[in-house]
Amino acid sequence: MLTRRRVLIAGAGAVGAAATAGVLTVATEDGPAGSVTTAGPQARRPLNSSAYRLQPLTGYGPPQAAPRRTLVRREPLLRVSGRGRAMVLTFDDGPDPRWTPAILDTLARYDVRAMFFVCGGMAADNRELLARMADEGHIVGNHTWSHPLLTRLTRRQIRSEMARTCEVIEDAYGERPEWFRAPYGAWNRAAFQIGAELGMEPLAWTVDTLDWTSPGARSIVERVEDGAAPGVVVLSHDAGGNRSQSVRALRRYLPELLDSGYHVTVPRRHYA
Ligand SMILES: [Zn+2]
Repeated sequence: MLTRRRVLIAGAGAVGAAATAGVLTVATEDGPAGSVTTAGPQARRPLNSSAYRLQPLTGYGPPQAAPRRTLVRREPLLRVSGRGRAMVLTFDDGPDPRWTPAILDTLARYDVRAMFFVCGGMAADNRELLARMADEGHIVGNHTWSHPLLTRLTRRQIRSEMARTCEVIEDAYGERPEWFRAPYGAWNRAAFQIGAELGMEPLAWTVDTLDWTSPGARSIVERVEDGAAPGVVVLSHDAGGNRSQSVRALRRYLPELLDSGYHVTVPRRHYA
């Protein structure tokens, strides 16, 4: 943990840079290819991962289209847009069998879809949790294999971190990830380029719960509720330490967001 904490401190400059880069809103539903909009629970049909495994790969899903072209961005997306008061909850660094199931249980209880930016190493050890995310309609994004500071890696290392993670996600979740998030919010040009080559859009966040500092569940709830607004993307963690506060906080703020009229949902990419 000490090592990880040191890296967090080292990455703080890059996080700050991302945070001050300005608010980049994802295009609305009429936007060009590669844009995203928010989607209701029905918009993404949950994969039945068990059925998936029983079918030949070539027999599954829509016909093969031309390779998807993803714009190389210069900044990550920070928020989403859509009709009404849409918000997106994201959980990073997992899956962790100690905390992720409780988060999934709460999301299921309120029939809400969220995003999980998983690390390949964690995903490889907890494939059944990715299958559950697929079954329950959540979106799984790529958070690299081992959670390094990408800004300190070579292009080759960045590609390996991201590509290996795409593979384990495809295997365990049933689809290749369409989104990626740089550890510590430390993006660079190579990360944007390689992410786009791998067909992924970079998604950062609008509201940081700072749950990894273990500030208390109440503090996490307050950060979410103070930051709540249409289009907001919330960052929390379901791994990387004791995440019991994150689990307890979700149980409180999720029903309150829903009671306040927020549509807690996931973004969906559109292709022309
Ligand atoms: Zn992370």
